[in-house]
Amino acid sequence: ADKLRIDKLLAHMGFGTRSEIKRAVKIGKVAVDGKVVKDSGLIVVPAEQTVTFDGEKVAYRDVIYLMLNKPQGVISATEDGRERTVIDLLASEDCLLKPFPVGRLDKDTVGLLLLTNDGGLAHELLSPRKHVDKTYEALVQGNVNEDDVKAFQEGVTLDDGYVTLPAQLQLMNRSLPRQSDASSAEQEGDSLPPVHSLIHLTIHEGKFHQVKRMFEAVGKKVVTLKRLSMGPLTLDEYLPEGHYRELTEEEVHQLK
Ligand code: URA
Repeated sequence: ADKLRIDKLLAHMGFGTRSEIKRAVKIGKVAVDGKVVKDSGLIVVPAEQTVTFDGEKVAYRDVIYLMLNKPQGVISATEDGRERTVIDLLASEDCLLKPFPVGRLDKDTVGLLLLTNDGGLAHELLSPRKHVDKTYEALVQGNVNEDDVKAFQEGVTLDDGYVTLPAQLQLMNRSLPRQSDASSAEQEGDSLPPVHSLIHLTIHEGKFHQVKRMFEAVGKKVVTLKRLSMGPLTLDEYLPEGHYRELTEEEVHQLK
């Protein structure tokens, strides 16, 4: 809406309940374009007028874009009867605009999750036509190798018969700490296969449990899974699990 009641605007932006706001207006805390207003039912045009509360500018917005580093154990939904959801991780003022997760990560998957109330953008990002790429980091049981790289590039058949689009698998094992006892590995000429493999996988679609099922298709098991990026959006490495921040203007621009 381009115009709305000033008490509604302030409630929307987290300045209190309607009755608290009514009182604040009455005692002169609220001004429009520098003039104190006394009527909490006043209609304002936030895009054109400057509203202040206690002298502080009320930054009006009706869209919200949040980058969450999803932790394990919460589900990617707005509501659930029994489980904690990603919305439960947000401060109450950030819930006012009713953001929802764009797509889903499994309960045990961590990493990048975009939350927004911008339905159009969410729709675009999730559209199967768009093939928005998503990159995951996974720790996989077994020795992921060049055969798997090739299989994923060609497409693998999931348990329901679906053949995946070409996906790019990168072996990252050099960054894994050595898992076998160093002296025995040296005796063996360093040729012991690792028990686990660290990989990056980029997929261009989003089937249910896709990454886990792709590894199952080649007889391997994903142990931990983290999403690193989605389209142009990359997980902020300074964002600890369970924390979130607003997207920058540039990030929002890149997504559109
Ligand atoms: N693939 C999976 O298997 N799980 C996720 O959470 C995301 C992609």
